[in-house]
Amino acid sequence: MAAAVLHRRFRTPPLASTPKEQEPVAYVIAEPCIGQKDNSCVEVCPVDCIHPTPDEPDYDAVEMLYIDPDECIDCDACVEACPVDACFAEDQLPSEWEKYIQVNADYFAQAS
Ligand code: SF4
Ligand code: SF4
Repeated sequence: MAAAVLHRRFRTPPLASTPKEQEPVAYVIAEPCIGQKDNSCVEVCPVDCIHPTPDEPDYDAVEMLYIDPDECIDCDACVEACPVDACFAEDQLPSEWEKYIQVNADYFAQAS
């Protein structure tokens, strides 16, 4: 069985016309995080792109955390970690929370 699987996997070479690998989709933190900020996502993010962290100056001032769209590597770890289902791939964000794409990006724009 394993040999058959391997055979299938390596049998077909990539086509010359295969489109370029898709750009990663940034993840977004949405409304359920407001008032939570429990940092489970911060602890699992492999590239530390969720801010502010508790040791950053504006942590107490913000109502939620934000994902840096330029740093997120599309790994999905934060989705599993979040106890209130606030993390979404951008293309899976419920329509009523689409404004959080901009809300997350704006946090990093004003911080830079
Ligand atoms: S998808 Fe991965 S890299 Fe992006 S914010 Fe979540 S844990 Fe971090
Ligand atoms: S794990 Fe969820 S609720 Fe906790 S800080 Fe991250 S996004 Fe907010």
